[in-house]
Amino acid sequence: MIIYMHSDATPSEVDRVVADLQRLGATVARSEESGRIVLRASVDDVLLGGSDWATQPGIERVAPEAAGGRRVGREHRSAGTVVVVADVEIGGGDLVLIAGPCAVETRSQTLETARQVAASGADILRGDAFKPRTSPYSFQGLGKAGLEIMAEARTETGLPFVAEVVDPRDVELVTGYADMLRIGTRNMSNHALLVEVGRQSLPVMLKRGRAATLEEWIDSAEYIHNAGNSQIVLVERGVRGFDGTARNALDLTAVPLVKERTHLPVLVDPSHAAGLSRLVAPLARAAVAVGADGVMVDVHPDPERALVDGAQALLPRDFDVLAPELRALHSAVPSDGR
Ligand code: PEP
Ligand code: MN
Repeated sequence: MIIYMHSDATPSEVDRVVADLQRLGATVARSEESGRIVLRASVDDVLLGGSDWATQPGIERVAPEAAGGRRVGREHRSAGTVVVVADVEIGGGDLVLIAGPCAVETRSQTLETARQVAASGADILRGDAFKPRTSPYSFQGLGKAGLEIMAEARTETGLPFVAEVVDPRDVELVTGYADMLRIGTRNMSNHALLVEVGRQSLPVMLKRGRAATLEEWIDSAEYIHNAGNSQIVLVERGVRGFDGTARNALDLTAVPLVKERTHLPVLVDPSHAAGLSRLVAPLARAAVAVGADGVMVDVHPDPERALVDGAQALLPRDFDVLAPELRALHSAVPSDGR
């Protein structure tokens, strides 16, 4: 069992945790790592798990002693990972803006959106050819034809694009077109798919499962890393709440917490969190303020006629206002997010 104390834990807080562990029969080794005290306690995990010592003040988190920790964990690598998508860096200090339609519906809808978001300063395009829909009767995406349209949008705008992959059998096809692969909320725990994208050379965006704990989400990233791909970006997109007014409850607490626990960049998708376009700008601003490395938003030229997620799509002119606002806000946020 490894106990990570907060960097500002007082000596008496550390002593109290050590004393509690010793009372339970543990042998405790203390070390200082990255400016904080780390305690390694050797004792039966069952005994430790049944007590309330872990609620003592000063403890940041407790992790099982798994061979030096997870590869995506901060304990494995203290510097942040920079993920490179074509020529765009995520996690390198600049705010990354990803924008475009939820789904590729037609060539003109996609190209028009791509041109406009590019003119507003987007860094990466989004637009899916494979859509994971809740109802089997909803539009499922254009498949290969959609990827071809996105490739055309990339040629026109010069921007790389990210696209979702929902089936291990399509990974090769999507990899042949896209600059970044995305695993959506419904597939965060699809381990066969995680391993398959982990075998690719493209960077991977991993959205949080809609009912996933932070640890489950980070473990899913570990699957991708273990398969050979360390270029992973996490995306907070809201979790199921008990109030149905907004589509999901955007968990902004997750952003600094996940950044403490992993060295991966973290983005926020306020569109899928809110489900309502009028909430997207305020949530995007909050995401930047809380230290997100970037924001991904849905943009559609005619949201009322969108085949997927029209209620949450910004108009291109809304994105044109939002993009510079988010960049200005980002320049005022401390670079370590604290
Ligand atoms: C999406 O980004 O289009 C999407 C389907 O999101 P999520 O998987 O978060 O619902
Ligand atoms: Mn969507």
